[in-house]
Parts: sequence; structure tokens; C-alpha cells
Amino acid sequence: MKQEEKISGFNCPNCDFFIEVTLKSLLYSQSQDCPSCLTKFEMDRQESKQALGLMQKLNTVIENIESVKDFTPEGY
Ligand SMILES: [Zn+2]
Repeated sequence: MKQEEKISGFNCPNCDFFIEVTLKSLLYSQSQDCPSCLTKFEMDRQESKQALGLMQKLNTVIENIESVKDFTPEGY
């Protein structure tokens, strides 16, 4: 069981493959690329600083949400 690194990510807008993004990879690499279609996603440094803060907050929110098992995101 690994608990140090929380895996999150996003779906590739090109092929819908789920791309895993860790906070570490956001911190240390300037771009992510989709393992499926090899599309590159450039991370703007200045923007990603804000994004990182958001991401960390988001992780906390997601943790809270996941702890509530009855929560359904598709409730709209
Ligand atoms: Zn892709």
C-alpha cells in the first residue's frame, strides 16, 4: 500500500485516456504527455504555481468526498 503519493489526473481531451498526474510530476516536469496518443501538455510555470495550490486544495476536497461513499458526482 502506497499512501505517500496520491494519484490524480485528467482525461486526455484527444483520446480520453486517463493521464495520471502526481503533485511531484507537476512540480518537477514542465510537460505531461498522454501515454496513449502522445499528445503533449505544456505546463505554464506561472500558471501552474496557482494550479498547484488549487490542485492541493482539490486533493483535500477529493479525499473528503471519497470518504463519503454515498456521494454521486453525476447528481446534476
Ligand atoms: Zn491522448
